[in-house]
Amino acid sequence: MKRLTNTSTAARFLLVPVLTAALALPAATQTRIERHKNSYSPQQDVELGQQAAGEVRQQMPLLNDGRTEDFVERIGDRLVDEIPAEFREPQFRYSFDVVNLREINAFALPGGPMFLHRGMIQAATSEGEIAGVMAHELAHVVLRHGTAQATKGQKFQLGALAGQVLGAVIGGRAGAVVSQGSQIGLGTYFLKYSREYESEADLLGAQMMARAGYDPREMARMFQTIEKQGGGGGPEFLSDHPNPGNRVQSINREAEMLRVEGRGTSGELPAIHARLKQMPQAPTTEQVAKARQQGGQVPGQSRVPVGTNERNTRVEAPSPEWQTYQPGDFLRISVPANWEQVKGGNTVMFVPDGGYVRADNGQSAFTHGIEIGVTRGDGNLQQQTEQLVQGFAQSNPQLRRQGGYSRTTIGGRQGLTTTLSNVSEVTGDSEAVNVSTVQLRDGSVLFLIGVAPEQQARTYLTTFSRIRQNVQLADNR
Ligand SMILES: [Zn+2]
Repeated sequence: MKRLTNTSTAARFLLVPVLTAALALPAATQTRIERHKNSYSPQQDVELGQQAAGEVRQQMPLLNDGRTEDFVERIGDRLVDEIPAEFREPQFRYSFDVVNLREINAFALPGGPMFLHRGMIQAATSEGEIAGVMAHELAHVVLRHGTAQATKGQKFQLGALAGQVLGAVIGGRAGAVVSQGSQIGLGTYFLKYSREYESEADLLGAQMMARAGYDPREMARMFQTIEKQGGGGGPEFLSDHPNPGNRVQSINREAEMLRVEGRGTSGELPAIHARLKQMPQAPTTEQVAKARQQGGQVPGQSRVPVGTNERNTRVEAPSPEWQTYQPGDFLRISVPANWEQVKGGNTVMFVPDGGYVRADNGQSAFTHGIEIGVTRGDGNLQQQTEQLVQGFAQSNPQLRRQGGYSRTTIGGRQGLTTTLSNVSEVTGDSEAVNVSTVQLRDGSVLFLIGVAPEQQARTYLTTFSRIRQNVQLADNR
């Protein structure tokens, strides 16, 4: 079952009170950024980016560490939430992968896929610095700089363009042999930006950072760190993202016009740093490229191949012991003690080890466990539940209804529950998807989505039912 992405407007995360809705910034002062002429459609951005992202995931060693990816994903989700309305593209799908490479680098592809080097996370001295690089990359994506740059150049067929993106990614990054030298030149349309575009990405990035609760000056600080690291030819990041001139000053000037909107950092970076330090050192891009050339094992590749059925057997059954969590100020929930809490942008999940993976397409998916969130739609509980299920069906096209809704008790109130069937995009096997909802006092709806492989559905449906019965709601104030 695919998680709700935060491009879906349906779900709002529990921890974000409804009151955070848009405190408008003083619009007159911040720099206004506009898109450039672009002869490609947003859908073409998506196609190009997805194709290239698939290739990157094949060619580069992914870190595949859930904890680190969640950390990065949460920062990304917060920034994506702050993309200005005029630049939102419903087709775009933002994903955030961590690549197990040593250099300080990051790159984003048209339509949304972003890749961060482990070396960048390790070099950052604050969460805000990581957010700064991500906000800058995200700005290139939302301003559609890749295809705008291609528009300025020659006209290409879409198919040829995809090749250029790959050439640049694989040629410039993983260093695999790109014998057709010209490809690198053409590929620069997508990953090597002009100074004008750099300046725009700095400023829009700063604006999104401030709204997401990060001080934009931390972006400037990260650029300084990257500059210091520049050895002989300078780091790849700076040749792709050249300094437009007075970069630090320009970002700081913009920062003075912005108000940082609450929230602040998660405080998790020290734990992530400690975790990464315990792992074997990340290989360099050059080491990976050499290994590839020699046809050997790619160093740093710790990823468990998804798409096999093996995963199911490795997931432990729900423990008989239970543990209680308080994921939001009005909610307490008890789950089997061997399930871990995983926070996403808009929802929180409780999953057993191995029950939560990143699918091949970069989206996160889960095969075992429960996802919880709050949604606000129109109509009564059943109508709102229906809208929620339809939202899920959009990202899970194989989702099928099995029957109607039954009444159930959730947190002492009357709610609804129904079980649907789906085909897991991770294992390719059938899975049961249990959707339960209950109305909150403010009219929004709390939902619980339980997922388990069909073969183990009986055990898990009993667990989901027990979770529902033990929910405690305190939204009376
Ligand atoms: Zn840039």
